Amino acid sequence: MQEIIIVTGGSRGIGAATVRKAAERGYAVCINYRSNHKAAERLRDEIIRGGGKAIAVAADVSVEEDVLRMFEIVDKQLGPVTALVNNAAILPKAKPVREMTFDRVHEVFTTNVIGPFICAREAIKRMAKSCGGNGGRIVNVSSIVAKYGSPNEANDYSGSKAALEVLTIGLAREVSAEGIRVNAVRPSMIHTDMVAHRLHRAKHVHPLQRPGTPEEVANTIMWLLSEEASYAAGAIVDVNGGR
Ligand code: NAP
Repeated sequence: MQEIIIVTGGSRGIGAATVRKAAERGYAVCINYRSNHKAAERLRDEIIRGGGKAIAVAADVSVEEDVLRMFEIVDKQLGPVTALVNNAAILPKAKPVREMTFDRVHEVFTTNVIGPFICAREAIKRMAKSCGGNGGRIVNVSSIVAKYGSPNEANDYSGSKAALEVLTIGLAREVSAEGIRVNAVRPSMIHTDMVAHRLHRAKHVHPLQRPGTPEEVANTIMWLLSEEASYAAGAIVDVNGGR
């Protein structure tokens, strides 16, 4: 039976590296994204040219109707999902808490916490044995700042990632008996558009003296999705250059 994966925010960065590796391993892939059609369609075409199966679906994970529509498209075009990577997130401009607007904080939490929550809910409905599914795997993409906070820059973002981590643990305990393993990765600074302006710091703050690559995070995500990680549930795996 073919594995079917949804990678939210799969068109760029860590998500795109995960999409490529999943396609190489024979998954049919839904590349979710928000608005950059070109990047998503280019990646979809690359996967299809390489002999894989992929669709690109624009859906804002912070909007419930979008998420419901995306899962319905996947049901129809690929089949019921067997793996979900909750990767999409936003990191707004650096600011101290005293300057953060309600709207900014609301958008961060809606995208980075409620989005993955609703995606996980829809995936579980399709994966859970008690709902007629065959089990599945969910990997959430957290961040090292869930441990340390992000003072003067993004304490909203770090708070959202801490929430995602406890959701990972709680969900793992809730759905393991349903045949669903839920885990997370916790990257430090990774060479993507999201932190392009901060990369110069990487050499000084990481014992490995460099930022990570999207592929290095994707490798860990793929491992958590695989049978090699069959006894990992509720784990949060650091991929952080030793930081
Ligand atoms: P990125 O390069 O900025 O790519 C973000 C992806 O998410 C794009 O595909 C984007 O789609 C999509 N996206 C953004 N908002 C969305 C929404 N509301 N609905 C659906 N898709 C949305 O990001 P990245 O650096 O690869 O980060 C991926 C994950 O790793 C995030 O969870 C991030 O918090 C985490 N992380 C990153 C780092 C790092 O240093 N890069 C470190 C720790 C953790 P569009 O192109 O259409 O906008």
